[in-house]
Amino acid sequence: MIEQAKSILKNTFGYDEFRLQQEAAITQVLNKKDALVIMPTGGGKSLCYQIPAMMFEGMTIVISPLISLMKDQVEQLREYDIPSVYLNSSLRPEAYEYNVKKILNGEVKLLYVAPETLMMDRTKEILKNIKVDCFTIDEAHCISEWGHDFRPEYRQLATVRKSFPGAVCVALTATATPRVQRDIKRTLEFDESESFVSSFDRPNLFLKIVDKKDPENQILDFLYTRKKQSGIIYCFSRRQVDELTELLVEEGYDAKPYHAGLMSRERAINQRAFIRDDARIIVATVAFGMGINKPNVRYVVHYDMPQNIESYYQQIGRAGRDGLRADCVLLFSYADTQKIKYFINQKQGTEKTVAERHLEKLLKFLEFTGCRRKPLLDYFGESYVKDPCEMCDNDLSVEEDVEDLTLQAQKFLNCVLELEEEYGAGQVIDVLRGSKNQKVLENELDKVEHYGQGLEWSKKQWEQLYRLLMRQRFLKRGTFGVLEVEDKAMAVLSGKENVYGILDRTDVQTAEDDVVRTSSEIENQYNVELFELLRAKRKELADADDVPPYAIFPDTTLIEMAYYYPQSKDSLDAIYGVGSVKKAKFGDSFIGVIKTYSKNHDIIERQKTLIKKVREVKTGEKFEQVGNGFNEGKSIKLLAEEHGVKEVTILGHLKKFLDEGNDLRLEGLLQASNLSDRQRDQVLKAFKKRGHEMLRFVYDECKKQIGYDELRIMQLYYMASMK
Ligand code: ADP
Repeated sequence: MIEQAKSILKNTFGYDEFRLQQEAAITQVLNKKDALVIMPTGGGKSLCYQIPAMMFEGMTIVISPLISLMKDQVEQLREYDIPSVYLNSSLRPEAYEYNVKKILNGEVKLLYVAPETLMMDRTKEILKNIKVDCFTIDEAHCISEWGHDFRPEYRQLATVRKSFPGAVCVALTATATPRVQRDIKRTLEFDESESFVSSFDRPNLFLKIVDKKDPENQILDFLYTRKKQSGIIYCFSRRQVDELTELLVEEGYDAKPYHAGLMSRERAINQRAFIRDDARIIVATVAFGMGINKPNVRYVVHYDMPQNIESYYQQIGRAGRDGLRADCVLLFSYADTQKIKYFINQKQGTEKTVAERHLEKLLKFLEFTGCRRKPLLDYFGESYVKDPCEMCDNDLSVEEDVEDLTLQAQKFLNCVLELEEEYGAGQVIDVLRGSKNQKVLENELDKVEHYGQGLEWSKKQWEQLYRLLMRQRFLKRGTFGVLEVEDKAMAVLSGKENVYGILDRTDVQTAEDDVVRTSSEIENQYNVELFELLRAKRKELADADDVPPYAIFPDTTLIEMAYYYPQSKDSLDAIYGVGSVKKAKFGDSFIGVIKTYSKNHDIIERQKTLIKKVREVKTGEKFEQVGNGFNEGKSIKLLAEEHGVKEVTILGHLKKFLDEGNDLRLEGLLQASNLSDRQRDQVLKAFKKRGHEMLRFVYDECKKQIGYDELRIMQLYYMASMK
């Protein structure tokens, strides 16, 4: 039986293998034994009942709490030619009757229905003589009062289930603590059942927390390189949503707002625009997200702090359902923490205690200096064993970036104490920098011991250190923004504890080499221009069918097309997500685009089936191969092509090669540099002054005018010429 399921997986859905737990869950269901399936968002829950539904003789009923989800699923199934309909209160009477007729005629394999619709006598009547083989409950955590979204009508499903004695029951959810899991099974009276639980981890999400400093510009910087991507920006208040949307629209982004203050019609229009790729960005409050199945959300930004870890997890969970890399960036500020504390203080009793505990855990997560997945998954009772994940800012901060800041931290803290904890950060920094501003002179702060003792750092660096000390809770802000030293800081002042950290945490961008290190070769190397053409074709086909673009093909499919350039229907078979039905419907349209493009650009097809994952086996470590190749006269560009990596990765290998005591061809490095002679001299001077280990200092020294890629080349030149 499972063989047949596998062939459906390949022929209909175009996927080669089942994911972990899918095969076991499907086997269980096909054996007509109840199953509780817990997989994170994007884990592939739907196939666990859709494939059995296609194999069962009778119908499968799917209970779903949200109208938008039902519609979305049915639209997707229809593109596979799988007969499915939904019944809920949103349907016009004629459409309702049409669907009922199809059910009665035995033409439907999957029926999606809202719980309250299922409970209606009329529906019971319709289903009385229908053979039902599978009874699926989506978002099954709604059954439990302990779940985060309890719905009383879900409780009654246990009784309804009894009216279909021949049906196996499948309950699915993305979030369920062990207690909720037990509750679901007990309520549904699961018998001989099994649970299929996957990890809560979403390995394709890159987690990053940055200091919120100049949020509007930080967001604009972030979006600048993501103009064509879809994303969600979460804000705390409706007003913030409106203001940010306005700013983004002014800057030329097609952003739409979403919050409970808008008319429901406007909300629905904005949501639809986002889902259909007509609007790239949704700026929203927590009200947005339930029922969003859009797989290609490439980023989720928290403009403000989320309420707690659970909502953070749910919100970032909306990114990257397609399994491709997605960025989750949170802007973290002390002021936001105070705002949340203020709201918590309005609460009383247990509600207040619970909220305080939530905030405490959230802060712990945000301030954690190790792998971010550890505290996140800890929260869900799962211990993360792969630590480090290499998909979070902390894991990827190169050791060089983490600095020992103890000396300056002591200076700062001592200065706060010397000023008797009566001044704010601005004044403390002014004192350290020996400023002659009026306030300093008026208060005779130029007479204190620390005056002018911090000239080695710029004002900006001291500000960054101040934020870091707040973040790590060595300092706190009292009334009127006056700084106070926390008890915890005593260990630092007495030299028992050191302060480590990364000074500049305001950059929301994920560096290019981070991307290289964390995504697959195909994701890095596909033809972006062709991808855009394929995307335009997909949008055209989707609009013609009145469905969201992802119901035609997910981005992953288009990315593979833009990498392998398939020129015939046969080669399409090997592409991810292309099954026979969609191949017949859309194959020619996409092949047409690929063929024209390939012809115009003299590109030949890469045979997916022939490309083996076996890498060139050469002797020696990678950095040695690269270093020797470079010294033999190969350019950086050529080496990047040969090794199938980006140039920045080659630079990394060359640095290692140098670090291991080898020489590098200086003229080869100069050839790789695009700087003018004047700029080169400027950079070399900066290296001399600031040392060559920390590129960021050199970057600052050059007034941020020279990009990191060029600096990396000059770093090698500088190091090699010192030998
Ligand atoms: P969930 O309901 O758990 O959030 P979905 O069922 O929507 O996740 O699946 C997420 C994506 O993964 C969908 O695009 C789906 O087609 C795809 N998918 C599911 N199973 C597989 C598989 N075995 N191989 C490849 N892709 C899969």
